[in-house]
Amino acid sequence: MNRSQDEVLDFKEGLKLWKRIQSAKVCDKCGAELSTAGLSFFSSEVLCPKCKEAEKSLPEYAMEARQVNEAAKASKPKRRRV
Ligand SMILES: [Zn+2]
Repeated sequence: MNRSQDEVLDFKEGLKLWKRIQSAKVCDKCGAELSTAGLSFFSSEVLCPKCKEAEKSLPEYAMEARQVNEAAKASKPKRRRV
């Protein structure tokens, strides 16, 4: 296995966020009690499903999502099937 430093850091960041979501009791935005929690697309806020939905309707969300999509597409050719 040959993991780059970046990937390890990404993994650690991801784990930290995951733990944050798991331990969150209330929505960072509206303070509602959380049954299921999601993460904000723009910050590391933990959001309730309602606020997550509200975020999806923001014009910035579509823009951001497209950028993530394009970044994913751009990085694809690196993964070659052997
Ligand atoms: Zn909320």
